[in-house]
Amino acid sequence: MSRDKIAIDIDATARGIRAGERAVLARAITLVESTRADHRAAAHALVQDLLPAAGNAVRLGITGAPGAGKSTTIDALGSYLTGEGRKVAVLAVDPSSSRTGGSILGDKTRMARLSMDPHAFIRPSPSSGTLGGVAAKTRETMLLCEAAGYDVVIVETVGVGQSETAVADMTDFFLVLMVAGAGDELQGLKKGIVELADMIAVNKADGDNVERAKIAAGEYRAALNILKPQSEHWSPPVSTYSALTGSGVPDLWRAVERHRAALTQSGEHAARRSAQQIKWMWTMLEDRLMARLRSDPAIRGEVRKLEGAVAAGRLTPTLAVEQIARMLGLP
Ligand code: GDP
Repeated sequence: MSRDKIAIDIDATARGIRAGERAVLARAITLVESTRADHRAAAHALVQDLLPAAGNAVRLGITGAPGAGKSTTIDALGSYLTGEGRKVAVLAVDPSSSRTGGSILGDKTRMARLSMDPHAFIRPSPSSGTLGGVAAKTRETMLLCEAAGYDVVIVETVGVGQSETAVADMTDFFLVLMVAGAGDELQGLKKGIVELADMIAVNKADGDNVERAKIAAGEYRAALNILKPQSEHWSPPVSTYSALTGSGVPDLWRAVERHRAALTQSGEHAARRSAQQIKWMWTMLEDRLMARLRSDPAIRGEVRKLEGAVAAGRLTPTLAVEQIARMLGLP
């Protein structure tokens, strides 16, 4: 089937996704990722159509520095979950992938077991430019996966720039992976990742490394103690585990379930999802307005002149904004 055919046949695509057909899901994601205007329109209609069937998954964000063991962890955790009878989708937000040709999830051998698992679906990061664009596509892809019956959606990201915030903003539980002895203890704190964490898990607690991992976990625990938790119903735990041996991996999932139960009961789960939707709406609107500023050559030229005038102190920023707003047709 050609891409144009999919773009037209939204009903059949939606039916195929609801029936859990992987090939249809994969093609629909390609549609969502396309930048062609007619594909965008079809993708919007498709996602809207599937919205009532989406939203039921546990959305799990995972971050960690390169080498922390994200793919090994997702392979182990995902296989554990499919063994428990769950269907697992693995997505990624990697805004650098357009430059590097796909640094994360580019290679399915990173998740050897899961990529062979009929109950798992792995999709590399969309590779289109800005973080906002990549994140929006991953969100839509997540909805499609949920409509296809995946009841755990794992979204992976590397610890660069704002990608962690973007993933924390689209997931229910944000798991931060660390390893002992890489100077991570302080790095993590500096970057503010710890504030986003619903749990910190110190990986590679195996062999000679068990003690060091425990010490690192103690340091994180101390660091978390001085932070005010995001929720009065959840204090982010710190654990050690080994993705390689699988020891402690089921405990990661048990924490996710405990968190889900606590926040569902307090009403925070629903509130967090609603707030995420609203934030997403505004982010997209802002991106759209900014895209207009950048793409229209006439406006871009004017904006550059105004910028020059502001820099030289000839024009106040307020008046520059007034003029730009007028160009955009804002009153
Ligand atoms: P990623 O870059 O965060 O996805 O990290 P990977 O999952 O690719 O792991 C990086 C390296 O660490 C690989 O060589 C893994 O085999 C190794 N690794 C991952 N988890 C563990 C673990 O639990 N114990 C040990 N000893 N090595 C691990």
